[in-house]
Amino acid sequence: MPIAVSENASLRRLNSFGVEQRAARLVRIDEAADLAEAACALRGTAPRLVIGGGSNLLLTRDFEGTVLLLRTRGLRVLASEDDATIVEAEAGESWDGFVRWCLSLGLGGLENLSLIPGTVGASPIQNIGAYGTEMREHFDGLDAIDLDCGEVRSFGPDDCGFGYRDSVFKRPGAARWLVARVRFRLPRTWTPRLDYGEIRAELARLGRQPSPSMIAQAVCAIRRRKLPDPAVLGNAGSFFSNPVVDPALAVELQARHPGLPGWHTAAGTKLSAAWMIERCGWKGHREGDAGVHAAHALVLVNHGRASGAQLLALAMRIQASVAERFGVAIEPEPTII
Ligand SMILES: Cc1cc2nc3c(=O)[nH]c(=O)nc-3n(C[C@H](O)[C@H](O)[C@H](O)COP(=O)(O)OP(=O)(O)OC[C@H]3O[C@@H](n4cnc5c(N)ncnc54)[C@H](O)[C@@H]3O)c2cc1C
Repeated sequence: MPIAVSENASLRRLNSFGVEQRAARLVRIDEAADLAEAACALRGTAPRLVIGGGSNLLLTRDFEGTVLLLRTRGLRVLASEDDATIVEAEAGESWDGFVRWCLSLGLGGLENLSLIPGTVGASPIQNIGAYGTEMREHFDGLDAIDLDCGEVRSFGPDDCGFGYRDSVFKRPGAARWLVARVRFRLPRTWTPRLDYGEIRAELARLGRQPSPSMIAQAVCAIRRRKLPDPAVLGNAGSFFSNPVVDPALAVELQARHPGLPGWHTAAGTKLSAAWMIERCGWKGHREGDAGVHAAHALVLVNHGRASGAQLLALAMRIQASVAERFGVAIEPEPTII
């Protein structure tokens, strides 16, 4: 069934928090060839929300418009150049499945991003990143459909405005873009990214030399140990991104709060949101079924029947307490509806 439409549809199984909200209309698209037709049918209608894996989404109310559920599949090698191989994936492909497909072809580059939940189509939205790598480092381009007029536009790296957990597709007004497929440029000469000490330690534990597959294996082992599985405990990974502040302010804060971790980046000093949240006493905190993970202060969890509104209220109290104690604003990573 290429396009399936249902009315008053439950979104509970379509978001990794497992929050029960409904959509007035749910349109599931399985075939890439049907995307343009579906986009034309929706032209000008609002509100619309694209959902891939629902792993970076907090639903706080029913959605009164149309949810587009992307399940389009397709992986292909587009070109083999002297220095790189260009690969392309349809938006509905699982991100981790795509990384494993690249590794099976001997193509390294994305291994540090193994096991991030969600779809390929969502990967540029917040420029997913983990263990010292961001997707933008290997991004080649994408095709997106403008849901306002039905036209397809190609975006290159310079068009996407990638930043730390950010891109033009995350900014106000960007909901009109449906990312249909994404291309990556994977280098022929592979350089391991071992910047995160934990990866080195895990490789040493496995007793192996780094190869793309070994790094993927190490990253998966670390992630399985550290992060709750949404199938068991509802969550959206890190709920807050690390705030990036002026380096002079960071020095002042670190003098006032010894031990506050900070990393230098081109945009300023990135401070550890997890450290600040933990110092405010939130780690392991629980209010009804809404809580903060006991082992990871950045991860908000749904212990069962928490509503999106309860999770958001908790998030706002955490934000306020960090602002009061540290004078720093921390921002949510997921899209909040
Ligand atoms: C356990 C766990 C660990 C995580 N770890 C990480 C991590 O290490 N690094 C990281 O960066 N993220 C992490 N995340 C967050 C999440 O996995 C990523 O942001 C992922 O890219 C979201 O993909 P998705 O398909 O689930 O997106 P969704 O949640 O479905 O959508 C997220 C946003 O993208 C939009 N969107 C989705 N697909 C499209 C499309 N095709 N076109 C246009 N807009 C679209 C949606 O409208 C929404 O605004 C984690 C989440 C969990 C649950």
